[in-house]
Amino acid sequence: MSGNRHSVAQNLRICAESVNGMPVAKSPAMGNLISLESLKAPVSAEEMKMKLDSGGCSTSGSCGSSEGKDQLSDEVWEKVKNHPCYSEEAHHYFARMHVAVAPACNIQCHYCNRKYDCSNESRPGVVSEKLTPEQAVKKVMAVASEVPQMSVLGIAGPGDSCYDWRKTKATFDLVAAQIPDIKLCLSTNGLALPEHVDEIKDMNIDHVTMTINMVDPQVGTLIYPWIFYKNKRWTGLDASKILHERQMLGLEMLAERKILVKVNSVMIPGVNDEHLVEVNKVVKQKGAFLHNIMPLISDAAHGTHYGLTGQRGPRAMELKALQDKLSEGTKLMRHCRQCRADAVGLLGEDRGQEFTMNHVPDDISYNPEKRDAYQEVVARERGEHVATKQAVEQQISGFGAIESVLVAVATKGGGRINQHFGHAKEFQVYEATPKGIQFIGHRKVEQYCEGGFGEDATLDGVIAALEGVDVVLCSKIGDCPKDSLKAAGIRATDAFAHDWIEAGIAAWLAAEFGHVSPAGSEIVAQASA
Ligand code: SF4
Ligand code: SF4
Repeated sequence: MSGNRHSVAQNLRICAESVNGMPVAKSPAMGNLISLESLKAPVSAEEMKMKLDSGGCSTSGSCGSSEGKDQLSDEVWEKVKNHPCYSEEAHHYFARMHVAVAPACNIQCHYCNRKYDCSNESRPGVVSEKLTPEQAVKKVMAVASEVPQMSVLGIAGPGDSCYDWRKTKATFDLVAAQIPDIKLCLSTNGLALPEHVDEIKDMNIDHVTMTINMVDPQVGTLIYPWIFYKNKRWTGLDASKILHERQMLGLEMLAERKILVKVNSVMIPGVNDEHLVEVNKVVKQKGAFLHNIMPLISDAAHGTHYGLTGQRGPRAMELKALQDKLSEGTKLMRHCRQCRADAVGLLGEDRGQEFTMNHVPDDISYNPEKRDAYQEVVARERGEHVATKQAVEQQISGFGAIESVLVAVATKGGGRINQHFGHAKEFQVYEATPKGIQFIGHRKVEQYCEGGFGEDATLDGVIAALEGVDVVLCSKIGDCPKDSLKAAGIRATDAFAHDWIEAGIAAWLAAEFGHVSPAGSEIVAQASA
């Protein structure tokens, strides 16, 4: 970075240091912060508490204000603040795990092949092992003891959690008895949902995801070849009509009981892509909390109907164009990673293979101390992040000349620019406009650099995945990939390593556009990228 940055961004720049032998991040303006990175390393609850005592930040111990908190009622905020899927902000800090306990399904979707034995694929419905409820609770206790970020347990296929209800309920009952502070979350196609809504409420399940791909049964005939309902197999328009009616009934029943509903819709070009505008409107009217448009994943090797018949999935920019059309409807989830059905960890990472049943001890006890300490650290860290975002919003609003800039960020979590370009398996994409900086999605890529070397063909794939992106921000990048990106029209810089993401983006914009803030204070001098 040449020149000087007299800015909010500069003040928020974080330098790695060590306090009491433990790594911390230090902000000149705000004192010492505990690095989330350090919390991912093995550390005892005692050590974590020592760190908290040794270097508190200047904000209070509460989460501080945030967009989410300001916009939501206290009741809803309590439900979403630590849920990585229901709160975009929370996904930087909190993890989820899925357990595959309910394999039976009552419908067939053209994009699904209920396949169990694949550890190499990462997409919904794919798992390495099915579990009994007793095995699942052991696994949850093992993960909760080792992964302090874990806040949510979900049952998300393969199969349908409401159709295979006995196993779903047994699993949640066992987990709730052992780890009462874990949020329980289930996903369903909705067909059997209305029969279980009252039990869902009684079991304190606050989050239900329902996949709704159509509100016009004619469209449904192109997606669902059959359903199984009231001991009978239904096909064609009859099947789609029944499914649609049950989904709408289930959605209304959940909304009436104040259970938060996330609607997932699979975007299938030429089948329901345009129709999803109507779906978004209707689910908003019926009380959905979030709408998650998921791009179809389709490959002949997956053995699905769509894969075998050549149905393509949407490109990243097609998905963005649809999401942009929906900005007035149901609020969108844009940070979904289309996880495996046995995923463990922060969104975007999968530690599932570390916790297969052969790694789970027979005799396991659960100690909540580490998780409690982590939550305290996150509350402090999050306060800083929210304050930064608010400060940055004000700066950005003065950048009138900027229409829209897409920024891809390499991050390992914690809301910071903290990953080497070559180590990224995904980039988080933000859009900067004069209205602010918004997370709009992610791009999965093959890791470019392995053992210090990068393959040109892999880099070509990364560049293709970054279609439409203007600049990449990362913690480190070599000259070779930087030059290749530049040749493809994409800038890249590591000048904002370890900054908060929003602060780094604002600083890059200011550097790029030589901006002077409305108040007259120079916020940046020269571009560096
Ligand atoms: S509802 Fe889920 S498990 Fe059942 S066919 Fe569809 S995607 Fe597969
Ligand atoms: S598939 Fe999407 S909604 Fe489900 S756990 Fe992963 S990120 Fe969350």
